[in-house]
Amino acid sequence: MRRKEPLYRKVNTTAHGVHHGSGPDYRSRRVKAQESPLAARMVAGKRRGLDYTPLFRFLLSRVGQPWGPTLKEAQSRLDREAPIFWIVARFPSEEKPYVRMGESSFYSGLYVDDGGLLQKVDPTLSESSLEPTCRCCTHTFNGKRFTRAYKG
Ligand SMILES: [Zn+2]
Repeated sequence: MRRKEPLYRKVNTTAHGVHHGSGPDYRSRRVKAQESPLAARMVAGKRRGLDYTPLFRFLLSRVGQPWGPTLKEAQSRLDREAPIFWIVARFPSEEKPYVRMGESSFYSGLYVDDGGLLQKVDPTLSESSLEPTCRCCTHTFNGKRFTRAYKG
């Protein structure tokens, strides 16, 4: 039996994309996100060097499916569970239309509906909903490049 791949990967911390800092940066819905003090505060508590992009893609691929088995599989393929809840709300008060990881990676915020299925908080958001926050990074929404231009 083949062992499933982990849902995270090690990254070179000097690689492009970490110069603005990385880690979760939860935001309310706004067309253009600004630099926030939250991003700076998160720096101290986060672990550089692990990239959870495979986890976020896995969770997005399970939207509409039962949460129980999805959570169990995610836990079995991670070094720790916290990153699951960067994107999946545990309580209604944690539900966010989108979640920002580092400077330029954005993902749909997720929650578990009354029927126990994983769902997007705002299924209308897409790679054309948000504007980039800087010129130097490639901004993505659920792994797709933003279609709107940086306006400065
Ligand atoms: Zn940048």
